[in-house]
Amino acid sequence: LQSKFPDLGLTIFSRMSALAAETGAINLSQGFPDFACDAALLNGVNAALQAGHNQYAPMPGLPLLRQAIAHKFEASAGLLVDPEREITITAGATQALYTAIGTVLRAGDEAIILEPAYDSYAPAIVAQGAVPVRVSLAPPHFAVDWQAVAAAVTPRTRLIIVNNPNNPATSIFSRADLDALAGIAEQHDLLVLSDEVYEHLVFDGQQHSSVLSHPQLRPRSFAVYSFGKTFHATGWKVGYCVAAPALMAEFRKLHQYLVFSVSTPMQHALAAHLQLAASWQGLAVFYQQKRDHLAAGLQAAGFTLLPSAATYFQLVDYSAIRPDLGELAFAEWLTREHGVASIPVSAFYADGRDHHIVRFCFAKQQQTLDAAISRLAGLR
Ligand code: PMP
Ligand code: GLN
Repeated sequence: LQSKFPDLGLTIFSRMSALAAETGAINLSQGFPDFACDAALLNGVNAALQAGHNQYAPMPGLPLLRQAIAHKFEASAGLLVDPEREITITAGATQALYTAIGTVLRAGDEAIILEPAYDSYAPAIVAQGAVPVRVSLAPPHFAVDWQAVAAAVTPRTRLIIVNNPNNPATSIFSRADLDALAGIAEQHDLLVLSDEVYEHLVFDGQQHSSVLSHPQLRPRSFAVYSFGKTFHATGWKVGYCVAAPALMAEFRKLHQYLVFSVSTPMQHALAAHLQLAASWQGLAVFYQQKRDHLAAGLQAAGFTLLPSAATYFQLVDYSAIRPDLGELAFAEWLTREHGVASIPVSAFYADGRDHHIVRFCFAKQQQTLDAAISRLAGLR
């Protein structure tokens, strides 16, 4: 077989997690919690299995789960979403992203992505024979230059992909950002794909603004979410996509032939759990404490902190520790020599540009964070 994707290798997350396992390092690289999901959620899985919910779910997802999601949108953000026509349950956010991209793009189309970009966007675009057009954001704030985005639009542009809150930048969009995005999308009749998997992990009292809350963006956007992030269950691979009925009808055409439907017992358990009051509340407070704890330890170790407004990641500049090393070399050195694994942010830029910044995940138990902090305390 002649490779269709000669430039794609193993993802940076697989690579750094493998290096952490091989060297016995504490793994703060790939983003996933190292603590258990809520016991009630786990019991819900068992109950669903025992109740015989072991056959195919309806193609768009269990009605109960879609209704529970619609209730959550209303309760958490005052958003009205039609569970029947506007929500589809997917195999994680990754499949939702891929399906939305496959639904919109034809060969030769262009899609604008903002860098640093989560790693799955560009390959999904390229797989359609379409072309990713990149607009880069710069540390420490990674603010979007909307004029640069507007300048990147060509007659072939069909889609703008945004990630709000942003992994790895940890930044969030303001209302003005959404207005600017809406202006460009309307002017050029573009669709928007908004990856909002970290919607509930927003800190310091700030608010997440979804494309779904913006009247101009609402009819032209796909928004993507993941129970992996909200319920500490990244291994379940259950997420969902929300879009206006006309867009969702097209999305489902592809969805039904990609996966048809996703795990029935998990959908039952998630529906039951979502109906519990507060099952998704308190996440920001929970993670903000972890952020502050790890941040203090990293600062004491000699790293310069970047702002972490959202997600479960903390970015740091390591120039004061090893200015001689590039990001990948630094992340590997830190893993091998000091037993703590991180992610080089250069992995999120197509040209691999180096800012001397690495990403640490703080979705970890207190004892894991303490152990990492004490290993890093020996850095200087
Ligand atoms: N988008 C972003 C920005 C992510 O960080 C992740 C998970 N790391 C995903 C999508 C994928 O989510 P899932 O695991 O539900 O496929
Ligand atoms: N989203 C996770 C991260 O950013 C990784 C997911 C994956 O390994 N594909 O670390």
